[in-house]
Amino acid sequence: MPKYVFVTGGVVSGLGKGVLAASLGCLLQARGVKVTLQKVDPYLNVDAGTMNPYEHGEVFVTRDGLETDLDIGHYERFLGQDLGEPNYLTTGRVYRDVIARERAGDYLGHTVQVIPHITDEIKRRVRGAAKATGAEVVVVEVGGTVGDIEGLPYLEAIRQLRDELPRSDVAVVHLAYVPILSTTHELKTKPTQHSVKELRTAGIQPDFIVARCPVELPPALREKIALFCDVPRDHVIAGRDLPTIYGVPLAMREEGLDAKLLARLDLAAGEEDLAAWRGFVARLERPARTVRIGIVGKYVELPDAYLSILEALHHAGAALAAGVEVEWVPSARVERDGDRALEGLAGILIPGGFGERGVEGKVAAAGHARRSGTPYFGICLGMQVATIAFAREVLGWRKANSSEFDPGTPYPVIDLLPEQGGVTAKGGTMRRGEYAMDIVPGSRLHKVYGATRAGERHRHRYEFNPLYRDAFEKGGLRLSAVSPDGRLVEAVEVADHPWYVGVQYHPEFRSRPLSPHPLFLGFLQACLSS
Ligand code: GLN
Repeated sequence: MPKYVFVTGGVVSGLGKGVLAASLGCLLQARGVKVTLQKVDPYLNVDAGTMNPYEHGEVFVTRDGLETDLDIGHYERFLGQDLGEPNYLTTGRVYRDVIARERAGDYLGHTVQVIPHITDEIKRRVRGAAKATGAEVVVVEVGGTVGDIEGLPYLEAIRQLRDELPRSDVAVVHLAYVPILSTTHELKTKPTQHSVKELRTAGIQPDFIVARCPVELPPALREKIALFCDVPRDHVIAGRDLPTIYGVPLAMREEGLDAKLLARLDLAAGEEDLAAWRGFVARLERPARTVRIGIVGKYVELPDAYLSILEALHHAGAALAAGVEVEWVPSARVERDGDRALEGLAGILIPGGFGERGVEGKVAAAGHARRSGTPYFGICLGMQVATIAFAREVLGWRKANSSEFDPGTPYPVIDLLPEQGGVTAKGGTMRRGEYAMDIVPGSRLHKVYGATRAGERHRHRYEFNPLYRDAFEKGGLRLSAVSPDGRLVEAVEVADHPWYVGVQYHPEFRSRPLSPHPLFLGFLQACLSS
């Protein structure tokens, strides 16, 4: 029978509940336990596709095309597994299904209620994650903070599961916060106590409390939390700030959380094998050299909006013994200052994006990288702006654009294809998830992948306009990957340039700490030798 570990959070958001859940998964898996992770997000959105990355961080896209919360990205990176539909649920999805069943007449004669209908559906999906993946342990992260109105049905579902299943099949790990008062420099356990009280009001006594604390947790405070929150002293786990999130599994291992959790679940497991992970963290923390990469974007004030790209750069950097220093360049600065805004960068990366604001600065940056021989890596919108810059500067089509930004352009080099029809609804209408592509033999991309076939994840609406393929190829822009039917352009590159690659897909979603993505490796290698 599968076992369930719920991770709840208290006091404030942003304590790293996702990283803690991912770390538990990583540790159990390192001991040979078959694990999966599931995120439940109490908001009413059906998926994260329509949410603003400025508020919620990036939209992470799974292989099967789900638009999810960025925590799913942490899970994939910490487990080294592809996740999908069974691993993500939102209140929007739960209600959508219950209401559809109500309309179909499945509850005929009954009043449809939060308890039991919504809680039943939540439990069904939590158990479904174990069934769909064959996991022995499902680690379920409950989004939000204990006490939020939206979270109540989830806590109730956990409470019921605890009743229904044997005691050793369900454990609850609660992440709370022990702040330092800036005036008296005192550490305070009261917020943690209050959040546990809140959890108990919902009928749940936590088995473990992970106390996030800016400094080492003094023994007396561990004692105090144990006493006031009614957990054994050795079930109070210190979670101090660390230089990298990838250090969290190692820190939790130091605290013995994995062994204690296994004991609590009455599960036998082998010794852990974390050697490769330790090696990665050591290379990450002590790089031999550094390389400076400029990311030109609209949301540059908020790194979470580009989380997977940053992680992918760090994975590749660690493999090359190089620390990656990112300089955030707002596209508005490029619009204002031109090439000066891009001085001193070893490479330029333009990530995905939507909407017209800041696009001209990105087109200018892509043009600058090509003219100056600076390594350039364009991802999704980054590939589209490289195409636009090439059309304007090399082919001389001064008004070339994407019809997303200029519907009246005489040269819509990026466009909606006729078969896409008119797109009106915003939710769930993009090309999403993994698609195969054929890589042109002899191209730079071919060298990078070492293969002529690969699958990559997508999330976009507009495409390279096939009308202009010949003109671009004649002008020197190589179309280095196409969809298997030959219709869609998946990648472009400039051959007489140290490294200039644009891809229509999102390689960052496939990068893992122990297997960096070849495109990020190739890009950084070029930056290091330029
Ligand atoms: N806005 C562009 C499109 O929809 C690019 C999307 C992206 O960069 N993810 O095609």
